[in-house]
Parts: sequence; C-alpha cells; structure tokens
Amino acid sequence: MAVQHASDDTGLRSDFFLLIDGELVTSGRWFDVIDPATGAPFARSPEAGRAELDRAVAAARRAFPAWSALSFEERAAYIRRLCDALRKHQDELAELLTREQGKPVGQSRDEITRAATQSEGMTKIQIPVETLVDDLERHIELHYVPLGVVGIITPWNAPINLAAGPLTAALYTGNTAVLKPSPYTPLSTLKVGELAREIFPAGVVNVLAGGNDLGQWMTEHPGIDKISFTGSVATGKKVMAAAAGTLKRITLELGGNDAAIVLEDVDPKSVARKLFFAATVNCGQVCMAVKRIYAHESIYDALCEALADEARNAKVGPGMEPGVQIGPIQNRMQYEKLLGILEDTKRSGARILAGGEVPKGPGYFFPPTIVADIDENSRLVQEEQFGPIVPVLKFSDVEDAIRRANATRYGLAGSVWSRDIARATAIAARLEVGTAWVNQHRATSAFVPFGGAKESGIGRQYSILGLKGYMEPRVVSVLKQVP
Ligand code: NAD
Repeated sequence: MAVQHASDDTGLRSDFFLLIDGELVTSGRWFDVIDPATGAPFARSPEAGRAELDRAVAAARRAFPAWSALSFEERAAYIRRLCDALRKHQDELAELLTREQGKPVGQSRDEITRAATQSEGMTKIQIPVETLVDDLERHIELHYVPLGVVGIITPWNAPINLAAGPLTAALYTGNTAVLKPSPYTPLSTLKVGELAREIFPAGVVNVLAGGNDLGQWMTEHPGIDKISFTGSVATGKKVMAAAAGTLKRITLELGGNDAAIVLEDVDPKSVARKLFFAATVNCGQVCMAVKRIYAHESIYDALCEALADEARNAKVGPGMEPGVQIGPIQNRMQYEKLLGILEDTKRSGARILAGGEVPKGPGYFFPPTIVADIDENSRLVQEEQFGPIVPVLKFSDVEDAIRRANATRYGLAGSVWSRDIARATAIAARLEVGTAWVNQHRATSAFVPFGGAKESGIGRQYSILGLKGYMEPRVVSVLKQVP
C-alpha cells in the first residue's frame, strides 16, 4: 500500500524539517526538490538561512562539553543506535533517496547498508594515548582531543553514505556537528536528522538544508572548527580559501578521473562486466567510478565489444521500476554537461560502440555509452564526466599506459587488471592516487583510509588516519623531577 505523506497547497510532499538543537523546525522558506525521473518537482524542502545556521552552531557549541566528556565507548553506543535506526527505516529511506536522487532502489538500499556498516566499523577503531618518551627524566604522551563543532557539506550523488562517514567520524571522536546536504538531494538527509533526534542529546547533531550560499557561510563561520567537505574540485578550492579566514581544519573529498589499466592476459568478457558496473553504477555519478579505460592492444577489440554488449543489455529507467540498472542523471545541469561531452565526442570522430542516442524527455535519462578510438585530449578523457559514458583507449606499452593514467590533475583512485597479480600490484603502486586497486575498483572499508592525491582532495576519511583528522594532537610532556 502506498504511504500517504503530508503535502501542502502546492500538492508537493512537505513533511520535512530542519534539525536544530534537538527540535524539528521549518524556516518559513522552502525550495522545490525535483524527481530526476520526471524532471518535475515532487517535494519541498525547508531552507535554512544565516539565522538558522547561527542557532545550529550555537546549539552545537553548547552540546560540545558534555558530548566530548563521554568515553569513546559511550559515543559509539549512540552511533550504533543510529545505524540500527537506518536499517529499521531502510525501505522508506531508500524509496525517498531514489525519488530525489534517481538511482535504482536496490542501489539506494545498498547505500544505506553501506552507511550503517561503515559507521559501525569506525566505532570499533581505538585511538589510544601514545607514549612517545618514557625515560628517567621525562614522560611524554600524545593525546588526541576533539576539535569542537564540525561542519559537514555533502554532494548529491550518495547523500546518505557521504553524510554518514563524516558524521560518524566527527561524533565518535567527540565533536558535535552541523550537517548540510546538497540542495538537489536534501530530503533523505533531513529524514536521517529526524532519526538522529530520537537518539542524540539536543545540539549534538544539527541538520540544515539550503543552497550553496549556506555552504559558504558554514566555511566562514567563526563558530565552526572544521569543515568536512565532499564535492567537486572547483567548490573544494572555494572551501579551502574561505576556511583560511579562521584557519579551520579541512578534509576535502573531491572529484576523480579514475583510470583502469587492463593488461593483455585477462579474460575480456569477465573484466568487462566488472568494469562496466564500476563505470555505470549510480549512473556513473560516483567519485571513484572507472572514468577512463586503458586496454592493451591485443585485447582492445574484444574488451570494447564486451563492454558494448553490457551497455546494450543494461536496463535504463526510473529507479523504482523493477530490474532497472541505470536510473536518470541526477539533475539538469549535470545532464546538460553530459550532452555537451557527448556532442564533443561525436564531433571528434571517435567511434560510439553502444548508446550515444539520448531519448527525448521527460526525465534526465542518458543511455550507457561506450566510446572507442577517442583522442586523448578530448573532453571525455580529460574531464570528470560523472555519467555513464566511458572512453576506452588503446596502449601497446604499459609504461605509456601508466604515464597517460597519471597525466591528470586528479588523483583519487585507479585500478590494474591482470592474471599476474604481482605484476599488476607493481603497476598499481605507481599510480598517483589515494587508492590503487588490483582486479577490483570501488572497494572501501571503515578500516582503510580513503581520499585523494593531487587535486582530488586533502586528508582522508575512514580508518584511524581519517578519525585523527577530526582531532587535534596534544602533547603532554612531564618532567619527572619535581622542582
Ligand atoms: P558541488 O561541489 O557542486 O557541491 C557539493 C556541496 O557543496 C553541496 O552541498 C553544495 O551546496 C555545497 N557548496 C556549493 N558551493 C559552495 C561553497 N562556495 N562553499 C561551501 N559549500 C558549497 O559537488 P556536487 O556536484 O554536489 O558533487 C559531485 C562532485 O563530488 C563530483 O566531482 C564528485 O567526484 C565529487 N565527490 C567526491 C567524493 C569523494 O569521496 N572524493 C565522493 C562523492 C562525490
């Protein structure tokens, strides 16, 4: 049975609230949220302005002393309750996520499972006091203490998972938080805020929806001690510049242009299946999606054909429709960017092996498209396409493939595919990235740091390395001789 939700006189669903100081509130201002499968608004989100931000930051500051005084175990228990709530409400959250983001509902469910599993994983990591020196004269310890209030800014491609990681890291390490989702996908995050309200003391978690200006105000706000930002390189640079005014700590998780290098000894069909999924899951809108494929000349044609087969057989459609593998592009701006890249690719004379014909609306649907024999300097190879259009490039010498894979300002991740694991590992270790995979792509864990080299970011999420990014190191140095 379909669930009835409150709607206002515009007919749009409107049962969404900001979370400030433990209260669910609205601001009196609203903005529309579009269903990318239709291109039409289906709901309205409350919009936070400066006043709501100031109230949320003040609440987070008030909540900080008591929250940071709890032990890691006590804070972990709260976070695990939020993970249980995510699982309990998985169906309704997944449906809402699909409605606002577009991805197939099975992928929305996976995103929620991943958010819960990775968050629970992080709460098992110990951050002990380290003894640096202990001799007759001195005892020197290194403590890690929370920073204060963390501002978390997230993008539209995986709003629940990309909020859960930084939120867990911030809270587990003793900080309080103000979380702002993308204006394209605010609703599922606001619902997570409602769940958090039932669990955490007032002010520990605050959730504000709003536009890009709200993000900028957060990065400039003197009451926020750190910004954890996930989004594009261009915005990441603005965040870094704005954070300089108050010397805020920052973690930047930015875009990528991941290369997959496929050596001559693989089974092209089986590798094509994996590469196709890694390039088109969530309609290719994944920071660590495969975005360029470099294939050895001896398997080039077979791999291209196998990828094209995958693309021809993939079911594209609204995310709620059974069996759909590829939903719509999330928003009109991104859809138009992809149309531009497709036009440029066609003009360049590259061969389009599958896809390439975009259906007329409604909705922002874009077929999975496989492109062969494309110029290395084309937009599709040089830019982060962030969509289901994949260039396959040929190499004969693996040294040349490594050089071309590294010839980018991005450095998020990359992969090498071969039956010879030792050789592939040696090649992977030469990729200028935060994560280099062998015979896999997109594998992450709560215990393994993730983040970008070069312009793909600063700092890491997950693992003890990521958690320490939400803390200040404090040296306590004791002279044993009493004066
Ligand atoms: P975006 O940079 O446009 O927006 C991200 C967030 O920043 C949104 O919440 C937005 O409102 C906010 N924002 C916009 N202007 C701001 C400003 N001046 N100051 C502060 N905040 C501001 O990114 P997007 O288009 O939503 O997301 C797609 C990008 O995110 C892609 O490049 C993708 O690769 C990247 N991404 C990276 C990771 C990672 O872990 N490295 C994960 C997912 C997505």
